[in-house]
Amino acid sequence: MDVMADDPKRDSVLETVDAMRRAMVMALVDVCSIPAVCPQSGGDGELRKLEWLQEHIRNFGFDELVRYDAVDEDKPSIVRPNLVAVRRGEHRDGPTLWFVTHVDVVPEGDRSLWESDPWKPVVREDKVVGRGVEDNGTPLIASIYAVKALSDVGVRQGLNVGCALVADEEMGSKYGIQHLIERGVFRKGDLIVVPDAGLPKGDSIEIAEKSILWLKFKVEGKQGHASMPHTAKNALEAGVELAYRVNKELKSTMTERDELFDPPYSTFELTMKVANVANINTIPGEDIFFMDCRVLPERSTDEVLDTVRKVMKQVGDRYGTTIHLSLAQNERAAPRTDPESRVVQLLSEQVRQVLNVEPRVYGIGGGTCAAYFRRKGFDAAVWAKIDEVAHSANEYTWIQNIVDMAKVFALMMLRA
Ligand SMILES: [Zn+2]
Repeated sequence: MDVMADDPKRDSVLETVDAMRRAMVMALVDVCSIPAVCPQSGGDGELRKLEWLQEHIRNFGFDELVRYDAVDEDKPSIVRPNLVAVRRGEHRDGPTLWFVTHVDVVPEGDRSLWESDPWKPVVREDKVVGRGVEDNGTPLIASIYAVKALSDVGVRQGLNVGCALVADEEMGSKYGIQHLIERGVFRKGDLIVVPDAGLPKGDSIEIAEKSILWLKFKVEGKQGHASMPHTAKNALEAGVELAYRVNKELKSTMTERDELFDPPYSTFELTMKVANVANINTIPGEDIFFMDCRVLPERSTDEVLDTVRKVMKQVGDRYGTTIHLSLAQNERAAPRTDPESRVVQLLSEQVRQVLNVEPRVYGIGGGTCAAYFRRKGFDAAVWAKIDEVAHSANEYTWIQNIVDMAKVFALMMLRA
């Protein structure tokens, strides 16, 4: 593509985004003052917030606005809404460049830690503070205003551009992204951007994720009086040894490194411990604890489980206890997105231009909804310019980040 030829377009798109700064801040404040907590976390869902957005973007230059609502199986009275907004490109039959953002937010958490009302976002100097302003408000606003910028300037971009505003990201995506994938909204060859994780400089593009394995161990012994251990089977003692040995065995055998990832190795961490007996002189008959494992894609989670079961057997035999293992989560790593893929290259180029940083690709231990796309064979890039204060008290976003992300998205649309 001749870069010189469309520089005037580029400049006016960037100027238009700059001029939208105030409007984007106001929209972010307005939209985040509508709570959208899912019913599973005690909220009443995303409908009101999504309807506000649907009305707001009516004249943003989208050619199609289609709703794909799901019904919440736990609470059938609650609709879990999704909005798919598409601006057609010159190549209507070609692929679509998607920006997938989520409308739902997590609850406020401990209210006493907030310095302002989480549901009444405020502008404080160069920031907006409130629940959902970073996760996922800033990327959401940036993506829809990027389309508006193109429309206001009057350019018709090459590829179709889609903004998918989805429900249910925080609790599993069943009524959100997974629902849209099942309904066939995304077509083979589409380019997917999921702006839901990132770093403050905006120089990191996530293309891979580790497998996630959450293990629950339950050791069953026999409760008894602490002065009469021969009449009991101490589940805690067996549990302590089990935890120690499983931890040590995994950390010493699963040692490969992959420098794409941060950190560049598999992690195995003992985490939650369930309380047992309420008094000092009782031998506990049950011991329950958990382990969080993030495994490099090079190693299968079956290997982890084989190691764990081997140690369980040894400890169980030694103490005469029964040990149960259950999997609270078992997510195989999705195939990574090719760093040379069109979406990653397109994104890298605009990050370079707008932010003047050299982007790098990397992998993380956390799971994002990009995995659903990658498993279906889509190239998906996860990127945002954020401080990663999602889910915390006093969640905030830099106003400059809203502008920067809108610029990156608008140029991606223009160049695609
Ligand atoms: Zn999020």
